[in-house]
Amino acid sequence: MKIINPDKCVVFFDFDNTIATCDVFDSMLPVFSRNNIWVKLEKAWEAGKIGSYKCLKGQLSGMVITNPALDSHLSSIKLDPYFKKLVKALSSKKIKVIILSDNFDYILKRILHIHGIRGLKIYANKLHFRSNRLVALFPYRNQKCEICAHCKTKNLLANVSGDSKIIYIGDGRTDICPAQYADIVFAKDSLLKHFQDKKLACFAYKSLKDIYAYFKGVF
Ligand SMILES: [Mg+2]
Ligand SMILES: [Zn+2]
Repeated sequence: MKIINPDKCVVFFDFDNTIATCDVFDSMLPVFSRNNIWVKLEKAWEAGKIGSYKCLKGQLSGMVITNPALDSHLSSIKLDPYFKKLVKALSSKKIKVIILSDNFDYILKRILHIHGIRGLKIYANKLHFRSNRLVALFPYRNQKCEICAHCKTKNLLANVSGDSKIIYIGDGRTDICPAQYADIVFAKDSLLKHFQDKKLACFAYKSLKDIYAYFKGVF
């Protein structure tokens, strides 16, 4: 195992199904949707027929939700128990940790706050409340990308330099874009499948415990 210089290293995490043990937005759908349109959209997204911009926008418009009800739902979300340990270990080496998510900033910040995790740089879609509806903004959309609402590559590249050692940890289709720019990729589920299908190098992982063990060996 090669030793990595921590000064050059930037670690990027996806959020849903990577840091959080579920897809948080998906967990909100059956609770807050006022009709079943979200099911059709979800199926179309899973089949690769629509991108996440269209999917998220459509699903949000079908939700009725108040701020306290959302907060109460978010308080039930669990994080991978090794995330906090990982952040602590990486921060102690002064390694940059950045979250790139195709979920919404409000949701991520709220959950991380509940779990006592502060000070991480987060890039995600934006969300605000308008009485009992949610309004979304997608400032990081890439018109050329058919898959993502937040196309993560631009924000990844803005946080590295030519000699950075880029580490990417993720699971889903919106991780495919940025992970291609990483030196080391930890992948599971659809991201892993993509990398294996394309015969690209990556480490398969099951939970952040595996990644914690890896970092223990290289820093
Ligand atoms: Mg994910
Ligand atoms: Zn993209």
